[in-house]
Amino acid sequence: MSETFQFKAETQQLLHILIHSLYKDREVFLRELLSNASDALNRLRFEMLTNKDVLDPEAPLEIRIQADKDARTLTISDTGIGMTREEIIEHLGTIAQSGARRFLEAARQQNFDTSGLIGQFGVGFYSVFMVAESVTVTSRSHKREADPVRWTCRGDDRYQVEAAEKDQRGTEIRILLKEDAAEFAEEYRLREIIRKHSDYIAFPIYVGTDEKPVNKQTSLWRTPKTQIGETQYTDFYRQMTLDFEEPLLSTHFVTDAPVQMYALLYIPAKGERGLFSLRKEDGLKLYSRNILIDEYNKDLLPEYLRFVQGVVDSEDLPLNVSRETVQSSGLMPRLKKVLTSQVLKELESLSKNDPEKYASFWKEFGGYLKQGVAAVPADAEKLTPLLRFRTNTYPDSWSSLEDYAGRMKEGQKFVYYLLGEDPRSLLRSPHLEAFQAQGLEVLLLTEPIDSFMLMGLRKYGEYELKNAAQAEIEAPTSSTETRPEAEKIPEAELSPLIERFKQTLGERVSNVRVSGRLLQSVARLVDPEGALNPEMQRVYKFLGKEYEAPKKILELNPSHPILKALSKLPAESELAEMVIEQIYDSALLVEGLHPDPASMAPRVQKLIEAALMRS
Ligand code: ADP
Ligand code: MG
Repeated sequence: MSETFQFKAETQQLLHILIHSLYKDREVFLRELLSNASDALNRLRFEMLTNKDVLDPEAPLEIRIQADKDARTLTISDTGIGMTREEIIEHLGTIAQSGARRFLEAARQQNFDTSGLIGQFGVGFYSVFMVAESVTVTSRSHKREADPVRWTCRGDDRYQVEAAEKDQRGTEIRILLKEDAAEFAEEYRLREIIRKHSDYIAFPIYVGTDEKPVNKQTSLWRTPKTQIGETQYTDFYRQMTLDFEEPLLSTHFVTDAPVQMYALLYIPAKGERGLFSLRKEDGLKLYSRNILIDEYNKDLLPEYLRFVQGVVDSEDLPLNVSRETVQSSGLMPRLKKVLTSQVLKELESLSKNDPEKYASFWKEFGGYLKQGVAAVPADAEKLTPLLRFRTNTYPDSWSSLEDYAGRMKEGQKFVYYLLGEDPRSLLRSPHLEAFQAQGLEVLLLTEPIDSFMLMGLRKYGEYELKNAAQAEIEAPTSSTETRPEAEKIPEAELSPLIERFKQTLGERVSNVRVSGRLLQSVARLVDPEGALNPEMQRVYKFLGKEYEAPKKILELNPSHPILKALSKLPAESELAEMVIEQIYDSALLVEGLHPDPASMAPRVQKLIEAALMRS
């Protein structure tokens, strides 16, 4: 009894494109089918680690290909996990591969001119319809009680499912080739394609009556580095992730002590995992002696390196392990240690040998390393040289702490930093004025994660890190920007002026006082002594914790013409009150603390009116 099903609209559209377009890369269909066969064999092997009760436990794990030139047929069979009736409907009736979706998306965007697209995407099982007139999939599950099943599609919108005869476990895909695809029934051609695209498949692939497998069967990570070209590394990365871009960095290494492992790791070019990426989660693929035991292992690297992709394979993992026991074997921490230091070492040499490339790494992943400094104190020392900063002296490039230390002024005791929302507004911060005037360099920290990072980065070498807003540095005296002493408000007028500020601002500030630190700015806000430091305030705010922001101290610049003029205004002047309010609001604004900047507009308008009436 055969039952007919309709493909979903999306699948129909994909099939239509694949059947009716001409592709020069059609041969990749074989890569897709072989990769599915290899997946099925891997899954069977994994199943057998814990379940011996499978059909045909003795059957060799292999892939066989038969071709018949005259009949124009091609058959690919594997002894893998197989599919039940339900599974075949679910897996072959809908688009499983995200690469297929991405292909469809790209096809739509290019008005269905898809030539040249196909090889880049890997559209999975359906790519067979580039070469097939009809396809029959006969499968028998490893589950003993499941009946064999057959799935047939003639390249239209429907497929049939029916009971079948099949004695052996596994899946057989029989293809009737299109007339113009007869080349794929030639054995030499098949061998050529296998060597080109599927050489690394871990199971033997036999073509025709071959007694020896066509493929080399060593996985890329077990192949000696000297035999691998850069493009092979890139190809492997692309197949694993479906990332369109080349990886930023790849590292391939083998260790024997303290643990045996093969590792092939990549740093992607972009931090954002694409919508269509094959990697749905963070984590490395973990193999034990070539058997995939965990698709997304998160214990091999610290969380802050979760952007790293790749494969780890260790001979030291006992073979009969399940995913759970992998976690509890003491091996994982040792693997993690080696892998972490390898990645950090690679990053360090990238930062030295190719600063430009490192800058693009930093742009994408810098936040992760900062997180590492905060979260893993044991790694902070190794991470510190990898950190990059914008500074007031070099706001447009990235400086390391080593660069900073090399430019320190004689006698400078601290590494100064300033927290803010973005580098440009930080450059205008009143806290920076005295530093600018003395040519002192200050790190500009503008990401939320920076406050966390500071918790793990208290010192660089012998230099403590110090918040520039709180630092006590000498007031600039010799600078040309300093206003001459003569312009200062006389002492006698100063206390009434301060009193006036206090009266107007009332509870909103904890104190008003004079500061020698200001040059261009009329005022600034600082935290009172003993308050929670600014980075912790930010951490709290970021974590959504309840805390009372400490009331700030308003510091005034006694040389500023605005204050001089203000001190001349009569005590009950409405204008004086507006000016004081505006000075306070502006100070809040530059600190990024103003709750409602638009509320200033009416007052600013009145101040403009007043200014115009005087002139
Ligand atoms: P993907 O391999 O990314 O999952 P495919 O379109 O290549 O997507 O395959 C769809 C699904 O069909 C697979 O996930 C698998 O469940 C099933 N499948 C395909 N070929 C085989 C096979 N030879 N043996 C068992 N299952 C298979
Ligand atoms: Mg596939």
